[in-house]
Amino acid sequence: MSGARILVVEDNVINRRLVRDILEYRGHEVIEASTVHEGLSLIHGHTPDLVVLDIQIPGGGGEALLKEIRQDPQLSGLPVVAVTALAMRGDKERLLRAGFDRYISKPIDTRAFGPTLEACLDGRGKHHGA
Ligand code: MN
Repeated sequence: MSGARILVVEDNVINRRLVRDILEYRGHEVIEASTVHEGLSLIHGHTPDLVVLDIQIPGGGGEALLKEIRQDPQLSGLPVVAVTALAMRGDKERLLRAGFDRYISKPIDTRAFGPTLEACLDGRGKHHGA
């Protein structure tokens, strides 16, 4: 699909800009947040098709935000992709078990990033006409 609305929740300005540039270049609309609270607010206000979620963000971390999303029946189909520099053995499994659709490790592979996210969008219900 093209033309998805993607929410990027990331507190690092440089990483956020990188992700935005990649996704906008691929024709997606990008909205940005840097904290759990801000992210939740944008999810409710702007109904994104997918959320890219940094694990280390202020306000409780990406896992806290994921928990809010997964507890809301109206957001049950929303794909959420974890992006993190965590590299401990077991982290990936823990995050997938927590309910993330995918796990992408930093530094981001700029070529694979877009296609990986788009794979998460395919086959999901779309909120917006493409
Ligand atoms: Mn961070």
